[in-house]
Amino acid sequence: MRMVLLGPPGSDKGEFATKVADKYNLVLLSIAGMLSDAVKERLEAGIQAQAYLERGQYVPDEILFEVMRHRLSRPDVKTGFLLVGFPRSTAQADSLDEMLEKNGMALDLALHLDVEDEILLERLEGRRTCISCGIRYNIFTNPPLVDGVCDVCGGRVGRGADSNEVVISNRLRAYEQQIHTLASYYLLHEKLREIPGGGNPKDVTRLLFKTIDEWSAAELDEKTKALMDKVEAVTDTAEVEEKVVEEKPEVEAKKAPAKKKAPVKKKAPVKKKAPVKKKAPVKKKAPVKKKAPVKKKAPVKKKAPVKKKAPVKKKAPVKKKAPAKKKVAAKKKTAKKGGKKK
Ligand code: ZN
Repeated sequence: MRMVLLGPPGSDKGEFATKVADKYNLVLLSIAGMLSDAVKERLEAGIQAQAYLERGQYVPDEILFEVMRHRLSRPDVKTGFLLVGFPRSTAQADSLDEMLEKNGMALDLALHLDVEDEILLERLEGRRTCISCGIRYNIFTNPPLVDGVCDVCGGRVGRGADSNEVVISNRLRAYEQQIHTLASYYLLHEKLREIPGGGNPKDVTRLLFKTIDEWSAAELDEKTKALMDKVEAVTDTAEVEEKVVEEKPEVEAKKAPAKKKAPVKKKAPVKKKAPVKKKAPVKKKAPVKKKAPVKKKAPVKKKAPVKKKAPVKKKAPVKKKAPAKKKVAAKKKTAKKGGKKK
């Protein structure tokens, strides 16, 4: 099983991801984790990424994907993975699909935790952290016993720099725009599953498992059906072939040797009767059966605005990569120039 788990800041997607990965035996992947591994391994792309992060800049997609490609080439992901918090744009989703499909590891599902804004605001604005031991509190849902004092170590419990209201609402707004187009993308590809993520964690976990189990069951059904169709097709063909052989035993006999060396003279009699035509229509029929059930899949609902986004599919990924390269190059140049001047 290969899945991505998306969710807004404050949806606790990391914690849910751990539960899903444990239950389904998936390798848990996050961009932060892959980048830090790549840095430790002294991977070229990892070192480049680190330089961007140290300057407080976004890591360009090109480098991100190089790091990911490296990680996904390890054998442990062959049995399945869960990628958390990525992709963040349709361009990234497109590149990710391309990369995965090229490696025969197409994505199965895109799970999205859908949480109401009020709940997110409460969670994010209520977040407090002990500056000594790092334990997290929430003044609304899980406050320390004494206001501002850590239960565990007695350290000061305060707001992180990133948890003021303006920063929070900006993050939420940015996410909303992001997920809007991403959800359309995965909806088009029939991979999107929306999970109401605002309830208590146990319920959300159960919903996640249920969604994945339903997908698995449907997938198994499809595979079984496809297999049955194949068996049927093979049986049909065999029956017809038998008939053909019975009806035209001479022709069949002549055909075989003709293929070996085929002296031109022997071919001539075959042309007169041309029984080959009888076989052709049978073969055409068989594969057609398979396709029908596949389309019924998508039990996706919700989100009316999605229809507007139809053109998403058109995007040619190659074109997008080009400007990214230019940017990187440009940044490097400016960096070099700056260095020389100093
Ligand atoms: Zn503490």
